[in-house]
Amino acid sequence: MSFEGLPKGSGNKERTFRESIYLWEVLRGLGVTIGHLVRNILHTDDMPTRQYPEEKHVYSDRFRGRHRLMKREDGAPRCVACQMCSTYCPADCIEIVAAEHPDPAIEKYPASFDIDLLRCVYCGLCEEACPCDAIRLDTGIFEIAADQREKFVVDKEFLLNNETDGTR
Ligand code: SF4
Ligand code: SF4
Repeated sequence: MSFEGLPKGSGNKERTFRESIYLWEVLRGLGVTIGHLVRNILHTDDMPTRQYPEEKHVYSDRFRGRHRLMKREDGAPRCVACQMCSTYCPADCIEIVAAEHPDPAIEKYPASFDIDLLRCVYCGLCEEACPCDAIRLDTGIFEIAADQREKFVVDKEFLLNNETDGTR
């Protein structure tokens, strides 16, 4: 392979005495950093940094947030445990245990309804598949954080009252 015609690297350049002792170059670099720091402190409005969590990003209304389960008028879950959402879920992150409802008109209800938020890809197929409009991703909650993996598995009670930030 020939390197003819390519510019010579800076490694071939002779260093001056000032460059070879490094101290001056270090101080020059610090001067640039301090210059940026002072300029940013004096002109915080011009900084591209978002002051999170005080300043939050505004997402489109169509953006899918954390799930919630809809309620009937009496506060019971609207879900009839038909398993359509868990069947369609591409991430296989919904787990429902069905139980018989005392009201024969309703037939079934979810004894437990868990979603693993770490596996969810927020595709929205669960709400599309639901025949009862019992699950929605319209909470507008996008900040999902916890200090333990298990806390990302949210249960029925959580999903029925999903109005807080964080998973718990
Ligand atoms: S949004 Fe998609 S991945 Fe998440 S639970 Fe619903 S169907 Fe599954
Ligand atoms: S949320 Fe909807 S689709 Fe899922 S089990 Fe309940 S009723 Fe069926």
